Amino acid sequence: MSIQVFGMPVSRGVAIGRAVLVASSRVDVAHYFIPDDRIEHETERLRIARDAVATELEALKRELPAEAPHELAALLDVHLMLLHDESLTGPTKAWIRERHYNAEWALSAQLEVLARQFDDMEDLYLRERKADVEQVVERLLRELAGQDGPQHGRATVRAARDFAGEDPLVLVANDVAPADMMQFKRSVFTGFVTDVGGRTSHTAIVARSMDIPAVVGAREASRLIRQDDWVVIDGDVGVVIVNPSPIVLEEYRFRQRQSELERARLDRLRHTPAVTLDGQAVELLANIELPGDAAGALAAGAVGVGLFRSEFLFMNRGGDLPGEDEQFEAYRDAVVALRGLPVTIRTVDIGADKPLERMSQQDLRHEHGLNPALGLRAIRWSLAEPGMFRQQLRAILRASAFGKVRILFPMVAQLGEVKLIFEALARARLQLDEAGRAYSRVEVGAMIEVPAAAMLIDRFLQHFDFVSVGTNDLIQYTLAIDRADEAVAHLYDPWHPAVLQLLHQTIQRANALGRGVSVCGEMAGDAAFTELLLAMGLRSFSMHPARISAIKQRVLRADTRQLVSQLPLVLASDQPAEALRLAQQSRAAVH
Ligand code: PEP
Ligand code: MG
Repeated sequence: MSIQVFGMPVSRGVAIGRAVLVASSRVDVAHYFIPDDRIEHETERLRIARDAVATELEALKRELPAEAPHELAALLDVHLMLLHDESLTGPTKAWIRERHYNAEWALSAQLEVLARQFDDMEDLYLRERKADVEQVVERLLRELAGQDGPQHGRATVRAARDFAGEDPLVLVANDVAPADMMQFKRSVFTGFVTDVGGRTSHTAIVARSMDIPAVVGAREASRLIRQDDWVVIDGDVGVVIVNPSPIVLEEYRFRQRQSELERARLDRLRHTPAVTLDGQAVELLANIELPGDAAGALAAGAVGVGLFRSEFLFMNRGGDLPGEDEQFEAYRDAVVALRGLPVTIRTVDIGADKPLERMSQQDLRHEHGLNPALGLRAIRWSLAEPGMFRQQLRAILRASAFGKVRILFPMVAQLGEVKLIFEALARARLQLDEAGRAYSRVEVGAMIEVPAAAMLIDRFLQHFDFVSVGTNDLIQYTLAIDRADEAVAHLYDPWHPAVLQLLHQTIQRANALGRGVSVCGEMAGDAAFTELLLAMGLRSFSMHPARISAIKQRVLRADTRQLVSQLPLVLASDQPAEALRLAQQSRAAVH
């Protein structure tokens, strides 16, 4: 039966594929396809893992102290029985044979199938056996991860999108952390659905940077969708259709083809300079997460990097942090790839929905309990870890010897922080001088993400060469809406008059004082805001590379003289989106 699940559209386009359900705790399980000639080998890996787990469980049982409660021995027996149960191993082998899934993936796919069956059971005792199956599968996954071989180990998602003959796949999960989402770059998945998350949560941002259709905050999705169901993800409106009828499927295939044609058409604008009808040059920059994204940014027509979210270099490392040389190499690689175009490197924005693995569980609980978005995040974290902060500054400064580098500090809110930032920079430079390391002049900028900074913009601009408005956070902090919480996502409103006022004031003051100003939040890549931002005086936008052509098209069609005359009306309106629409309509009628 076909069903629809509604969520929030976060990444455009239509994806059609079979659902791969992944438990949030297992998103780092390896997912890759295996060729025909590896099927035997992969089945053998599974058998070896099963034998090893059986030996382990039998040893545990033998070594149980005499005084241990007899329930423990009975539990180990249940686990042994589940381990050998045909309903676990049989279908797992079928996933390997018929779908070419690697053993870990096949196993977790079958676990999701069984988990559903347990959830649907009437009998409480039987329902609770789900935890036992999960534990057995955990043991098997650990064994598989410990096996030798190039494909094994934690968090290895293989690039296999082009594996011939397989159905396209879409990922369905309750939640995927931003760090885990990074693992899915170049992965087998052509779309994502998650139960939780907001439009500008970092998970959504990474999905968008992958330029594949995604819907988040779809609440019940991972419960309603079953392993291997056919799913349509409509990333334009935020709907997920499960097991669509042939007519609906045909309609979506048509839309998919249309959007591919539209993309190809926009692609032709890639290297056209972004200049408005009245001759205003506009800078379209890229947001990147890793140095490897830099080449794609150039190919998409970016004239520089406006935001390099350096914290992604600190993730998926099992808590070990990158040292100065490793960071330097990453920044240098991005700078070299940009061939003289500017690269704006933001110092780590750790915390909130991007915790470090090395933060203990207790830290995390503490953080979650106490609202992490208002906690030790971004520049606050860096200033609390001065050694680490200077290490990052030295690495960034060293990269400046290879091209044009700008440093950007996230979430600055206090004037006191400004003083500490410049002291840290001066010390980092001194340390490099003493070590005889080369570096060049860098521009220094602050992100305007907290209303306090937007309100005191003149004072902040006395110290910084440029500012970049992080609208994702500016909206979150102005409206007191957690950007990652789907429960309040309907109140997260970029059109809110207070947000527009802060944005307008920041752009105007920076322009008046001759300082650079850019917007690097998601609003910059949303074509609905392009005219408005141009009217406010913005000439520098930073966004996911995949959005550049669409925004450029808007720029090429805009006449800022007309837009400016309509701006006061829009800003004064209680419903700015509607006011802008009416203004656009009246303009169209005149022409
Ligand atoms: C923002 O807040 O708008 C921004 C660009 O930073 P991030 O999304 O990484 O918090
Ligand atoms: Mg931010």
